[in-house]
Amino acid sequence: MVHRKEYFEGIVSQIKGNFPRVRNAQIDVVLKKIKRYHFIGYKENDGYVIEVDTETIPHVGSKRAIVGCLAHELAHFQIDEGLTGLAHRQDTERYNSSEVYRRKEEKLADLEAILRGFGREIYSMRLLVEKNHWKNSSNYGLTLKEIRKLVYSNS
Ligand SMILES: [Zn+2]
Repeated sequence: MVHRKEYFEGIVSQIKGNFPRVRNAQIDVVLKKIKRYHFIGYKENDGYVIEVDTETIPHVGSKRAIVGCLAHELAHFQIDEGLTGLAHRQDTERYNSSEVYRRKEEKLADLEAILRGFGREIYSMRLLVEKNHWKNSSNYGLTLKEIRKLVYSNS
């Protein structure tokens, strides 16, 4: 089963209600071949774009993991929406130039998504990343152990 653009858009519209700052924003999903990444999210005009890598993501069998990936991107938007124009540009620059900053931002996005109700989905996303040995910022988020402590500690 290969998922199409509408599949990802459907999930985004279902889950964006959990992210109040972007709940009413236009969020476009673009399927394309992305070198080195599986998802990229960015601001464009008054809305947002999530690029989905056609080589990998449409073939993922776990819906929960895909929801986790999309919730992670929406969490970035939710966090960044609180920044003014200048702060947003500085944040993007730091993200692109500093690996330490990138690691911090990726952990924050995972945490934000967990706090917004997507703990199990973030866990599934992390399992997917580890299972497939995805590199770069894909594996910069919270570790499986950290997510387990946050999500499953009371179960
Ligand atoms: Zn991220």
